[in-house]
Amino acid sequence: MDGPPSTPSYVKIFRNTGHEEQLAIYNNVVFKGTQTLITGTMKSLVLSQLHHAHKVIQCTLRLAREHFFRDGMTQDVTEYSRKCATTVFHANIAWER
Ligand SMILES: [Zn+2]
Repeated sequence: MDGPPSTPSYVKIFRNTGHEEQLAIYNNVVFKGTQTLITGTMKSLVLSQLHHAHKVIQCTLRLAREHFFRDGMTQDVTEYSRKCATTVFHANIAWER
């Protein structure tokens, strides 16, 4: 008889944290499904890579939520986009058309 699938040893279940999901930790990187936790040391690199195409905030947020998670990520992505001179310039041109 087959039982429930066994949980790999590198997967830990965090309970009573507000995040009842299974989080996997592999090589000190935390995953939630297909999303990767953005830690403090990788935050600036991830923000710049997410924003490299200078897309509007909504596009960058969608991309960020697809691949990453972190408390305050929405605010971080929004502030990063609003401070980018290239993105602001192109947004203003689009509004003037
Ligand atoms: Zn930009």
